[in-house]
Amino acid sequence: MNIHEYQAKALLREFGVAVPRGVAILKASDADLATDELGGPVWVVKSQIHAGGRGKGKFKEASAGDKGGVRVTKSSSEVNQFVKQMLGATLVTEQTGPAGKQVNRLYIEEGSEIDKEFYLSILVDRETSEVSFVVSTEGGVNIEEVAHKTPEKIVTFSVDPATGIMGHHGRTVAKALGLSGDLAKQAGKLVAQLYTAFVAKDMAMLEINPLVVTKHGDLRVLDAKVSFDDNALYRHPDVVALRDETEEDAKEIEASKYDLNYITLDGTIGCMVNGAGLAMATMDIIKLYGLAPANFLDVGGGADKNKVTAAFKIITADPNVKGILINIFGGIMKCDIIAEGVVAAVKEVGLKVPLVVRLEGTNVEAGKKIIADAGLNVVAGDNLDDSAQKIVKAVKGA
Ligand code: GDP
Ligand code: MN
Repeated sequence: MNIHEYQAKALLREFGVAVPRGVAILKASDADLATDELGGPVWVVKSQIHAGGRGKGKFKEASAGDKGGVRVTKSSSEVNQFVKQMLGATLVTEQTGPAGKQVNRLYIEEGSEIDKEFYLSILVDRETSEVSFVVSTEGGVNIEEVAHKTPEKIVTFSVDPATGIMGHHGRTVAKALGLSGDLAKQAGKLVAQLYTAFVAKDMAMLEINPLVVTKHGDLRVLDAKVSFDDNALYRHPDVVALRDETEEDAKEIEASKYDLNYITLDGTIGCMVNGAGLAMATMDIIKLYGLAPANFLDVGGGADKNKVTAAFKIITADPNVKGILINIFGGIMKCDIIAEGVVAAVKEVGLKVPLVVRLEGTNVEAGKKIIADAGLNVVAGDNLDDSAQKIVKAVKGA
């Protein structure tokens, strides 16, 4: 789960992290309150969307102006103008894709006088199974590009969970960023605070780009991007409360209500499968025969008719889906339950694209009979290979 920059900063502030003061607003009429409260003399108006690259982004609407999604100004009336331009407009950045994202929230922040911009992120390193830091003097720019062109400018290290964050980690960061004296001390403190926040809140990633040194000699977090480990959300109701569903894929939200493991992909074959391994294999074989899956969907072992119906509805509602492949191995899950769910869903929402169903395992005959008796326009698949070929052929032929 992702949160907005202003939420991430508020959360980091709870751990003592030095972040600029700011006020989040949802409507243009609140801009004056925010500028008054912050007092100036410099304000930054920042688009709040779950995507990076806002500064260099472009709004689709000409009326929003061409100054990007992050704007610095010394005039409170210009703050007002920017707020009116940006709220409701659609921002396109390197990370949003061409469709862009509508800006529904703005963060107005006190401006910082930047001397240097650095990069710092914390993530879970799957190779070492440890929390790792990635640090670079090359902040404010695309870190992927730095990693590609000048990898020597990136310093990484992991933290042993048994000992936790220690003084030498802070010194490593200070050295990597060329900081000494009081700034090195600030770096040590910041590293400990960020690590503590990361672990306490079960974050998956915490990216600060840029981390800046101000002209007054302060180390400050100017941008913050945080994502959380979904599997740990149950123990963080305060984090769940920060969820902004307008930023998430509507189909994935619907699927999560039914506890379905569903991810939207960019192909054309909708897939309904039980078991993550079988779902992956099904996606692979669709690719092998020349098309691509529109989604990953594991309905799980204990799915009931309701769950199957919900899953089928989510798939059919996707306009990218040109054909559906249902591939079920009935172990704990029974084939007749799947069949009932499919029939109920088709009766409710109709079937406008080809559907291939492959059932195998527990109660397979009963399942096949339910589908046959329903008189639906369904193609029966004999095995995984045959089914994949059939759905690809049906879609390509259509
Ligand atoms: P991103 O483009 O989505 O990563 O958004 P950022 O929050 O990183 O802002 C983009 C850029 O705007 C930063 O890299 C800074 O160069 C600039 N910026 C952000 N806040 C301030 C500020 O307070 N003062 C100044 N001078 N520049 C800022
Ligand atoms: Mn940034």
